[in-house]
Amino acid sequence: MPSPNLRTFQNTIDAYKTKLAEQSAQIQDPKALDELRHQFLSRKRGYVTILLEELKTFAPEEKPTAGQLVNALKNEIQERLEALEARLKAPAKPKREIDLTLPGEKRYRGVPHPIRLFQREIEDIFLSMGFSVEDGPEIETDYYNFEALNFPPHHPARDDWDTLYITDKLLLRTHTSPVQIRVMEKQKPPIRIVLPGKVFRRDVPDPTHLPMFFQLEGLVVDEGITFAHLKGTLEFFLKRLFGDKIKIRFRPSFFPFTEPSAEVDIECLACGAKDPECRICGGTGWKEILGSGMVDPQVFKNVNIDPEKYSGWAFGLGIDRTAMFAYGISDMRYFFENDLRFIRQFDLK
Ligand SMILES: [Zn+2]
Repeated sequence: MPSPNLRTFQNTIDAYKTKLAEQSAQIQDPKALDELRHQFLSRKRGYVTILLEELKTFAPEEKPTAGQLVNALKNEIQERLEALEARLKAPAKPKREIDLTLPGEKRYRGVPHPIRLFQREIEDIFLSMGFSVEDGPEIETDYYNFEALNFPPHHPARDDWDTLYITDKLLLRTHTSPVQIRVMEKQKPPIRIVLPGKVFRRDVPDPTHLPMFFQLEGLVVDEGITFAHLKGTLEFFLKRLFGDKIKIRFRPSFFPFTEPSAEVDIECLACGAKDPECRICGGTGWKEILGSGMVDPQVFKNVNIDPEKYSGWAFGLGIDRTAMFAYGISDMRYFFENDLRFIRQFDLK
C-alpha cells in the first residue's frame, strides 16, 4: 500500500499533467511556449524542480517510485514542448507549386456522333414548329412496312426497296414510314410528328450506299391541310438548315403512299451550280434532298382516318446523305469507321 504521502504526490503529478494538456492546447506563438516551459521546467520555481525537492520527504523505500513518477512527468513535458515547437515552426499552409503559365491538360470528353448531332439539328427545327419526335421498332412486319403504306404484295414498287427479310412476315424496316402508320393507329388528328431512325436495305457498301443508314420522316395530318403547307414547311426547314439564300425546287415524282408526290432539290452547295463537271450534282447544279407528297387517301383508310375530313402530307430524307452534303463529305462510310480523327472534327463546341 502506498503511503498517504505518495498518493498525494501522485495526485499532484496528475493535476500537473491535466494542466499541461490544457495549456498546450492554447499555445499559438513562441512567447507563450517559452512561458509554458518556464512554468514547468524552470530550475528555480518550475513544477518539476518543486517535485524533485519534495522527494526528500519520502521514506527510502518509496523514493524510487516517487522519483520515477517525476521522471515520467518530466519526459511528458519535454515531448509536449518539442511537439509544440515543431508545430509553431511549420508553415501555416503548404506552398502550392502550380505554374499558371503552363498549358492546361486537355481531356477529351467525347461528343455525340456526327449523325446524331445532325439529326438533333433537324429535330430542333421541327420542334420549334410544334412537331414532336416519335420512335418505332426496327424489326417490322410486312404489313407495317409495305401493305399499310399502299404496297400490296407483288407490287412492282417493292423492288425499289431491297429488303432484308428475317422470315416471310418479319423484316428489317426499309424506311421509317411504318412509324407513321403506328402513330396514326393510336392517335387521331391533328398529328404533327417527325420520325428519325435507322433503316436497312440490302446494299453493298460504297461511297453513297450502306446496308444501314438513318432516315427522318415527317407527317402532318389535320383538317384542311394542303400542298401549300407542305411547301411552306419544307422551305422553312431547308432555309433554317442550309441558310436563307438556298435555292429550292419541287419536282413531280412518284411514291406509292403519297399522291401527288414531289422530290425536293436544293442548289448544289459544292459548286454553287457553276461547275458542269461537279461530281456532287453531276453538273446539273441541283441536289435531290428529300421526297414528299400528300398522303394517299388509301393510307388514311388503312388506319381508320376519314380521308373526306382529313388530309395530310409527309416527307422523308436520309440523315446521313444530307449530312454528307451539308458537311462536304465524299464517302458515307467515314461515318461508321469509328476513326476518331474524322469524328472529332464535329466537336465544334
Ligand atoms: Zn455541283
